[in-house]
Amino acid sequence: MRVVLLGPIGVGKGTQGIRLAAAHGAAHVATGDLLRQAVRDGTPIGLKAREYMDRGELVPDEVVVELLRERLSQPDATIGYVLDGFPRTLGQASALGEMLVEIDQHLDAAVSLEAPEDEVVARLASRASCALCGRPYTRPMDQDPGTCDVDGASLMRRDDDNPEAIRARLHAFRVQTQPVLAGYEEEGILIHIDGMGSPDEVTERIEKALSA
Ligand code: AMP
Repeated sequence: MRVVLLGPIGVGKGTQGIRLAAAHGAAHVATGDLLRQAVRDGTPIGLKAREYMDRGELVPDEVVVELLRERLSQPDATIGYVLDGFPRTLGQASALGEMLVEIDQHLDAAVSLEAPEDEVVARLASRASCALCGRPYTRPMDQDPGTCDVDGASLMRRDDDNPEAIRARLHAFRVQTQPVLAGYEEEGILIHIDGMGSPDEVTERIEKALSA
């Protein structure tokens, strides 16, 4: 399966992306995770990306596209992939389109996960993830987030889950990513999914829509 998974911050892309990829034996490729790893490793890409990420702005296309190209060339991605949070601009969408033509592949679907803005902002307040594997968790803001069920590493909150960066990220989604969704709609591969409800309910909706 080759799908892209898009939606505003806090809508559950990470959770659903991991599940979808696991269920279909596809690679889960989240550009946000790749960028955070590059920041932690202090690579040239990480150094360049960090200031944008901290402000809640999108990292320049050429940086993200290069990172994605490199990731898609790895063996696990040859079977299939769920692109989580990419493409987020029209420039990235056209770079992806060109990359797919080069390797003679096409997208099966673009999944748009949807939820009202006030709901996604509330979700961010209780968001935590594993410092080691990135697995997402829900942990109330006023409590120590604890440790990961899978590898026991500490859970952390993201640097960009603060009010200014959240506003900037929602703005980037509306202005830069909505046109990408419109493009996939025109292509006839866009699937709208209601992102409200439990993670299991949302997974079921996605699977049902993909098999239809
Ligand atoms: P995410 O984990 O998907 O919410 O991404 C976190 C941050 O990484 C975003 O706010 C951007 O700064 C950056 N980022 C992730 N994916 C992209 C992308 N496709 N294009 C540009 N910036 C990105």
